Amino acid sequence: MTEILVSGAGIAGPALAQLLTRQGHSVTVVERAPLLRSAGYKVDVRGAATTVLHRLGVYDQARAADTGMRQITYVTKAGKPFAELPADLIMGRRGDDLEVMRGDLGRILHDAAGAEFVFGDSIAELHDGPDGVDVTFASGRTGRFGLVVGADGLHSATRRQVLGDVPLRHLGGYISIFSAPNSLGIDREEVMYSEPGRLTFAYAMDPAGPARIGMIFASDEPGLDRRDGKRLVAEAFAGGGWRTGEFLESMRAADDFYFDSLTQVDAPRWSSGRVVLLGDAAHCPAPSSGQGTSLALVGAWVLADELSRAGHAEAFATYEARMRPYVAKNMEFGRKMVKDMVPGGRLTIAFRNYGMRTLKFHPRKEQVIEKVLAPLREAANAITV
Ligand SMILES: Cc1cc2nc3c(=O)[nH]c(=O)nc-3n(C[C@H](O)[C@H](O)[C@H](O)COP(=O)(O)OP(=O)(O)OC[C@H]3O[C@@H](n4cnc5c(N)ncnc54)[C@H](O)[C@@H]3O)c2cc1C
Repeated sequence: MTEILVSGAGIAGPALAQLLTRQGHSVTVVERAPLLRSAGYKVDVRGAATTVLHRLGVYDQARAADTGMRQITYVTKAGKPFAELPADLIMGRRGDDLEVMRGDLGRILHDAAGAEFVFGDSIAELHDGPDGVDVTFASGRTGRFGLVVGADGLHSATRRQVLGDVPLRHLGGYISIFSAPNSLGIDREEVMYSEPGRLTFAYAMDPAGPARIGMIFASDEPGLDRRDGKRLVAEAFAGGGWRTGEFLESMRAADDFYFDSLTQVDAPRWSSGRVVLLGDAAHCPAPSSGQGTSLALVGAWVLADELSRAGHAEAFATYEARMRPYVAKNMEFGRKMVKDMVPGGRLTIAFRNYGMRTLKFHPRKEQVIEKVLAPLREAANAITV
């Protein structure tokens, strides 16, 4: 039995915590936020990652929480629909693939973890010594752990502590997500509106409940201050069409505001001594790239699997070797996805809108979509778990 500290109660952290607890280890998850974070939009779980949900024993719960999306509707500046596409056509789901609100999946994984969770604290310092990792928490508490796992996301402090600053790849935009009243009466439909450099989208699973709003803006400037997210979004979307003004009002009041850069991280190494990185902390394909959640789940499985067979040094090396090719494929796909999501100029948008408007009349629309989605399917299954 090893005392293991996991930093970050997102997706990767709780998934790993359950697997290591089952192996008989004593696992503590420390999360900087004061409560489990319920924010976020829809996330996908595809291919190999669905097998991991089965093995975690939460697949049925996650399936029950599926967003059940029916349709994607593109609207004009005045809110008039100009293209309505059935979700089945555009999402190309296969087998057990799921789409779940990120907060729902986080809650399911947390509730199944069986580990100790400490909220409102974080690692302030760690010293990796011959007998374990000595940790001082921001709260002043201290502890010694046999292993420390950094599952603390895209801007991982654990990564910085053990590897220093690693290069980030800015993909040219920023994303924000928040709750708003469902004034559109959305019922399992995604509504999308784009203008040059700005994309707004809305989703709700229940017409009587709140909607989740997403706003993405293009910016070549990396490293904008995330603590200033609401002001940056308000500035970027000032004067926007459709429901922009109403959404910005809701954003100001939202207590579940999520804001991040569309950035990829691919750390040159995923471990150092007794400290290992997991999920976005090690390899973030970028928020909204579509595969971050699946990579986090698969990573948790592979890391736990390797730790069940070998000591930490060998296990960390084989974990990284098994994951690298799968991660590389998904990173490549993620770059393409994000590039397509961040709206370009008027002409690019007009061209895309024309494609969406005419797609449903295309005699071979299924094949057209299949061609677009084939690389995603390949990437989602590019590992055996
Ligand atoms: C609130 C939230 C909403 C999101 N919404 C979306 C979305 O709508 N679409 C999308 O594509 N991706 C979203 N993401 C990112 C997505 O969840 C991840 O890309 C993916 O699931 C990988 O999960 P992860 O567990 O590695 O990282 P994350 O899910 O990012 O989890 C990391 C966790 O670590 C915590 N943390 C950060 N720093 C520290 C620290 N120093 N000490 C302790 N804890 C720390 C964070 O609060 C978070 O709970 C969101 C992330 C968060 C945190």
